[in-house]
Amino acid sequence: MSTPVLKNWARELASGLVSQNQLVSRGLMGELPSEAFEALKNNFDVRVPLAFAQTAALNSNSPSNLHPALKAQVIPSSQELIFFPEELDDPIGDEPHSPIEGVTRRYPDRALLKLTYQCAMYCRFCFRRYKVSEPDFNLDVVKMQAALDFLEQTTDLWEVILTGGDPLVLTDKALQGPLERLAAMPHIQVLRIHTRIPTALPSRITPELIALLKATGKTVWVVAHINSAQELTPEASAALARLIDAGIPVLSQSVLLKGVNATSADLTALFKGLIARRVKPYYLHYPDLAKGTQHFRVPLEDAIALVASLRGQISGTCVPQLVVDLPGGHGKIAIEPQWAKFLGNGNWEFKSPLHGGTLQVHYPTTL
Ligand SMILES: *Cc1c(COP(=O)(O)O)cnc(C)c1O
Ligand code: SF4
Repeated sequence: MSTPVLKNWARELASGLVSQNQLVSRGLMGELPSEAFEALKNNFDVRVPLAFAQTAALNSNSPSNLHPALKAQVIPSSQELIFFPEELDDPIGDEPHSPIEGVTRRYPDRALLKLTYQCAMYCRFCFRRYKVSEPDFNLDVVKMQAALDFLEQTTDLWEVILTGGDPLVLTDKALQGPLERLAAMPHIQVLRIHTRIPTALPSRITPELIALLKATGKTVWVVAHINSAQELTPEASAALARLIDAGIPVLSQSVLLKGVNATSADLTALFKGLIARRVKPYYLHYPDLAKGTQHFRVPLEDAIALVASLRGQISGTCVPQLVVDLPGGHGKIAIEPQWAKFLGNGNWEFKSPLHGGTLQVHYPTTL
């Protein structure tokens, strides 16, 4: 029997495009001097999943003809070698908040567990690029057990977020050990998986993987990283549906990226596409100050105006929270356009998301 679900995902993962020849021959990029390509790849590894290459290259053999939103996310650019002084190796302060290798804990009730630094694609704007793709940073068996021991002993944790890298590039066999240990921790009620897989490698969402997640007996949430409506192919949509049909709720997080999604129309198409597939847009991230990512950033004030333009125009279900993660690791800051101003004495000034006009309203104070 051969259905898309049973496709050999590991073979598809291994067929990701990694060399200049592969990218040029598929019309995904123009030829660079090989030293220039190597310099980009050394700076941050290149891997273009077949799913992206196929969607981007549909009926085209010329770089000018591809979906720019897909191409900009995966094809390296010489601008990645321009570093601004504000840009940092560890832009959101993971390291100072890492009590033990592989774990980052910034908040009292939840912590990140980085199971691997490998991904099915290397996003050109990756915020964790100083470690991502480097196998040397992956936890060995001893360090993995130590990280799990920490989570087990830290009984005020309520949720563990599996991230990386992308935890779902690991085989079921590699996931099983850590999942079984997490399943046995009574204080952990929720497992959250942050992953790029539903759109980068949809065939990875197999019935076996879903069974493994459900076997933990914990509440599992998936947060899928998706940046463009173009990623919502029939295969990706089916992968999301497999998770949701199995009772695993899916949220999305997107990064606001110039050249990919930084217009009202692009964001509207993305968020409506997600809600139509039962995926709730959760966070819209302002790009972190990672080295060599300035070409993806719009000014923060434009980002706020863009999100304000959605509110009141498209279904409230479609609007995610804009967040910015500050250097040093002070936590995600939720940014709202100024909708309400307290004037004192029960008096408020509000701005309408429908017409932008301001209104004053008095609310009764306490008796
Ligand atoms: C982003 C992040 C989380 C998740 O934050 P939520 O607001 O719960 O989605 C948790 N821990 C760390 C260290 C993070 O960077
Ligand atoms: S999937 Fe996530 S961790 Fe991996 S390269 Fe993309 S942004 Fe970075």
